[in-house]
Amino acid sequence: MKEFDLIRWIAERTPAGDGVVTGIGDDCAVLDLPGDACIVVTTDMLLEGTHFRSGDSPEEIGYKAVAVSLSDVAAMGCRSLHAFLAVGLPEGFAPAFATRLLEGALRAARRFGVSLAGGDTTASSAGLCICSTLIGAPPSGRQPVLRSGAAVGEAVMVTGRLGGSLAGRHLRFVPRQDEALELVARCAVGAMIDLSDGLSSDARHLAAQSGVRLRLFEDRIPVSDEVAAGNPLQAALNDGEDFELLFTVSPGVAHELQRTGLAGTMVTVIGEVVAGAPGVILVGRGGDEAELAAGGYEHFAG
Ligand SMILES: [Mg+2]
Repeated sequence: MKEFDLIRWIAERTPAGDGVVTGIGDDCAVLDLPGDACIVVTTDMLLEGTHFRSGDSPEEIGYKAVAVSLSDVAAMGCRSLHAFLAVGLPEGFAPAFATRLLEGALRAARRFGVSLAGGDTTASSAGLCICSTLIGAPPSGRQPVLRSGAAVGEAVMVTGRLGGSLAGRHLRFVPRQDEALELVARCAVGAMIDLSDGLSSDARHLAAQSGVRLRLFEDRIPVSDEVAAGNPLQAALNDGEDFELLFTVSPGVAHELQRTGLAGTMVTVIGEVVAGAPGVILVGRGGDEAELAAGGYEHFAG
């Protein structure tokens, strides 16, 4: 069973309760509060061997645990407010290890004005496990940006550069909260998602949930300098853990955004939203078009 089959199975058996505006299947859940307010909530679990190696620095592991959730809240066009952190520590861990882990988590939280409001600690017999939950909210008067709002005719944009994250950026990336907040302050955003699994996979999620086709142009995809060898395009499409934002806006706004950037970060028009069966088309340098297969990270291969 693949990860997204499992998520679909769960979603089909968990009808959204009262006050759940958007349930399972977006970067965050959107929950109604009394009055006109709403909050967004995300939770992410990081496991030794899957998301980091035992030799990675505890500060970087703690930082990444909070940063991946910050990225999900940013993908909703929201600001992160409060964090909860649950940690399973391996038996016999050194006290300094736990304090360094927490120091890293707090560094990510402080950088974005987030308070650590609670959590849990437990002993783990199977390596380090760290689970972060973040609560955020949209800027006043605005609604969270979903994956499902892309409209035909919009431009497809991405922040930063893609690929090569495993060289180290996946532990040190800066979540795009500042960029997301400037974006929603400046214009209407159709749909948005953060690139955790890889552009090829995450673009398909956005297309599927919006019921549209995305046409992406190979020669416009910005490739990171950290892509060392091999095929740079494949790295940009499939490496994953870029934690950049993929979003859609009207074409006129898109070119203005590309000219100015967002919060000091470059943003690039990489494609367009077109009608047709949901999916992603990659237009090659010679103008050839091919359906883009999901090649990003798959948790439950087989
Ligand atoms: Mg996400």
